Amino acid sequence: MVDRPSERPLPREMAQVLKEIWGFESLRPLQQEAIEANLSARDSLLVMPTGGGKSLTYQLPSLLIDGLTVVASPLISLMKDQVDGLTANGVSAASIHSGQDEATRNHNRHQVQSGQTKLLYVSPELLVGGSLNGLLRSVGVRAFAIDEAHCISHWGHDFRPEYRRLADLRHIFKDSSFHACTATATPEVRQDICEALGLSDPALLIGNFDRPNLTLRIRRREGGRAQIVDQVRHYRGEGVIVYALSRKDTEQIAARLCKDGIVATHYHAGLSSVQRERVQTKFAREEINVVVATVAFGMGIDRSNIRAVIHASMPRSIEHYQQETGRAGRDGEPAECVLFYSYADLDRWRRLAAHSFSEAVEEGGDVDALQEDFRAKDELLEDMNRLASGMRCRHKSIVEYFGGRWERDSCEACDVCLEEIDLLPESDQLAKMILSCVARVKQSFGVGHLSEVLSGSEAQAVLKWRHHELSTWGLLKHFHKKEVVHLIHQMIDHGYLDRSRDERPIVLLNDESMRILRGEVEIQLVRPPKPRETSRSVSQAELEEGVDADLLYRLKKKRKEVAREQEVPAYVVFSDRTLKAMAKHLPSSLRTMRMIHGIGDAKIQTHAPAFLKVIDDYCGDGDRDIKLD
Ligand code: ADP
Repeated sequence: MVDRPSERPLPREMAQVLKEIWGFESLRPLQQEAIEANLSARDSLLVMPTGGGKSLTYQLPSLLIDGLTVVASPLISLMKDQVDGLTANGVSAASIHSGQDEATRNHNRHQVQSGQTKLLYVSPELLVGGSLNGLLRSVGVRAFAIDEAHCISHWGHDFRPEYRRLADLRHIFKDSSFHACTATATPEVRQDICEALGLSDPALLIGNFDRPNLTLRIRRREGGRAQIVDQVRHYRGEGVIVYALSRKDTEQIAARLCKDGIVATHYHAGLSSVQRERVQTKFAREEINVVVATVAFGMGIDRSNIRAVIHASMPRSIEHYQQETGRAGRDGEPAECVLFYSYADLDRWRRLAAHSFSEAVEEGGDVDALQEDFRAKDELLEDMNRLASGMRCRHKSIVEYFGGRWERDSCEACDVCLEEIDLLPESDQLAKMILSCVARVKQSFGVGHLSEVLSGSEAQAVLKWRHHELSTWGLLKHFHKKEVVHLIHQMIDHGYLDRSRDERPIVLLNDESMRILRGEVEIQLVRPPKPRETSRSVSQAELEEGVDADLLYRLKKKRKEVAREQEVPAYVVFSDRTLKAMAKHLPSSLRTMRMIHGIGDAKIQTHAPAFLKVIDDYCGDGDRDIKLD
């Protein structure tokens, strides 16, 4: 964060404490407003990007006025950092959480009881559990600060049920003021926070979400890991975080980087706390520069000179994207964020969400609540997908997503404004050809079939439906079939076409399609990547909805191996149809594997375990959705 001073002059006492305790000369934008709200006991909601300086806004008032401030904080490591930092500055702060032994907890309770502690950090579970109510009531709480307040909202990306119950405190501590802080909150989430916490006439302090020193690029994922390696190479000796979706991905990408001579390590929630701390410390001390991590590597990263954040796949929400990219360039110096995107990411997230949903239902969860949660998550995902697949200025899109106003023409710091995207000049015409083909096949076919027709294929299905006789047959024959698939997917990603949510989704026209056909909107499509000539025999699979082509490729490799070992033809091991079903449904146990077409009792014992292992390795362990962090 660059230090841009707040505009109003600081009251003398405030300036003095700021200088004496923290050694800072001035406050940053919105800090003063937040501090004043706290001092005048007015509830507030402060939304400021990571690194903006939210903590100071509830710490400083506690030194200017009598009374205890209680901070609800979600992570023990965060509490520890804050308490250590305050203690080092000579401020009397303590924490009470479940990770402490009885003696430490009693000692800290005693400090609070005796009025010595000005700031008490507590985990939300303990706060809502009620075990501290007696103590807190007897000393009185002047103010509650709720850190990471977006966790309170179903509409946020990180909902935690115990946060929702923090609202109970409002009824118990009627005279205390409440100050919610978060780095990420859309207008919807903001409203939810205010309502859920019962904030009364809160000061709404919404910071600027733009990080002009970050150059944001979103590229199509084509070469998989090779693209990541190439990218990381640009930052020799500099701090880089690569975010990946699953634990297994982090391990494999880190191994690949090491193999290519780049020292890298992985980080995820499956590591022991000692291992995790070791990675954090080494990264902070610059003993290691490249960490490949899941979202678990986040809060508490203490390194301001991270020069690049790379996403190996699309995050599940703009909130995640914003928070993760926000870790780059906190020193205000230029930094780069590159996201490698593929439309398959959207499908993968959806499959994982559907999988966790059905598991939660099976475990007896409240179906209505789970459905609402599912829908909310899907909307967040859609928003992220729109950002990733779209061609609007990335900075502008993010600022507007968080409810801010964008007043510049160009950010000059994203692939769109830097004109790095290769747009197809004849986009409108191509789009119309695709739309009329959808109409000609009577909105009854999927992406694969449409691309066959448009690229002029004489595949059996095309001939069977006599689609080679349509006027749209072969209209895009100068494109490879895969490129046509890419174009159709772009149209779907942009909302110019719909896709049914059936087992075999079909492509449908919508209002936007009609507007394009009538020439009312202009659209822009990106030039699809040239298909690589590989020996992979998965091109058909990529045309089939929901089948993960990379996984299918691995399953086929396994089949070849098994067939060679057992000296049988490949189809005897498993048919293509069976492998495709595996690559689509991602079974996570032998029980679910048994439901796949073509797997009977015998094969469940002979071959299924080896193929399950391939799927596990690919997706990141058996209970993949749980281990995403
Ligand atoms: P947030 O909670 O918003 O992510 P922090 O409260 O952790 O941010 O602050 C980020 C960094 O900015 C910290 O190192 C903090 O000491 C520093 N900081 C906060 N306020 C100021 C200020 N007014 N002047 C200079 N540095 C500040």
